[in-house]
Amino acid sequence: MIIVMKAGAPKDEATAIMKELEDKGLQPMPLYGVERTVIAVIGEERDLSIGHLESFKGVEKVMRVVEPYKLVSKSSKASTTIVEINGVKIGSDQIAAIAGPCSIESEEQMDKVASSISQLGIKIMRGGAYKPRTGPYSFQGMGKEGLEILQKTAKKYNLATVTEILDIRDLDNICEKADMLQIGARNMQNFELLKEVGKTKKPILLKRGLMATIEELLLAAEYILAHGNPNVVLCERGIRTFEKAVRNTLALATVPLVKELSHLPIIVDPTHGTGKRSLIEPMTKAAIACGADGFIVEVHPNPSEAKSDAQQQLTPDEFAILMENIKPIVKAMNKTL
Ligand code: PEP
Ligand code: MN
Repeated sequence: MIIVMKAGAPKDEATAIMKELEDKGLQPMPLYGVERTVIAVIGEERDLSIGHLESFKGVEKVMRVVEPYKLVSKSSKASTTIVEINGVKIGSDQIAAIAGPCSIESEEQMDKVASSISQLGIKIMRGGAYKPRTGPYSFQGMGKEGLEILQKTAKKYNLATVTEILDIRDLDNICEKADMLQIGARNMQNFELLKEVGKTKKPILLKRGLMATIEELLLAAEYILAHGNPNVVLCERGIRTFEKAVRNTLALATVPLVKELSHLPIIVDPTHGTGKRSLIEPMTKAAIACGADGFIVEVHPNPSEAKSDAQQQLTPDEFAILMENIKPIVKAMNKTL
């Protein structure tokens, strides 16, 4: 950490802040310039509050030199984390393909989806039982009944499942019925939820918040790891920008950047990332080409009748074409499906 004192700040103001740092077990190293003093601080800076230090008299600014996260950082673990679900090793040379409807709507709907995706070799199915909807009058999901359908269908087709958790009170039931828990974009900074899923050993799919920075995404993951769960898969699902032509702006540079910063695997959601059916295949290809460990796509037997996200779900036939068309990119990246 570097502390820059204001020009002309008296020496005793620098002394006061150095005493505080020493009391906290850190080693301040002052550099007295002609105009101002700069203090380099040696020691664990993550426990220090920048706001607190900046409140000292005479301090102009305080700058971190290391990232505020630790456990998710590449510097704390050199090898890539692999999260294994139903034989799919997310974070390995195998591209993880996750598919399924936005919402679980009926047993018949789930059966159709599961049957079609399992024929394509998909091993992980998505489906929301609890839906985070912008308006309270929109379909909120089938809840417990939806979870039962998800579990039953997955068992029939030997699929693993990922489903979103919105409320801590549903944790035990969802853990019992599903294989992976999704923390959706709207809950990426629901810190109590992050702590609770951190106490389980369940694989977690942590989606980037609509307005979250990459650092905030990594700090959200840090919460889960800090509470004991190392099985986190990050997901870039687009962010809200001024652009109106797409539902979200799919920030694919997140993928290689996260790979520079963290050992956690990262997949891409081109469905919510674009909100537009025609863009899903090209962006899935782009995701694989920029190094994503996998992708998650919404598939519905009859998208126009879907109770949520109708405009962005693929039919099983369209998804089968996508799975075929991405093969050359997977091969070019020296990966397998
Ligand atoms: C979803 O997966 O259906 C969903 C609501 O995703 P997100 O949290 O990324 O909006
Ligand atoms: Mn959706």
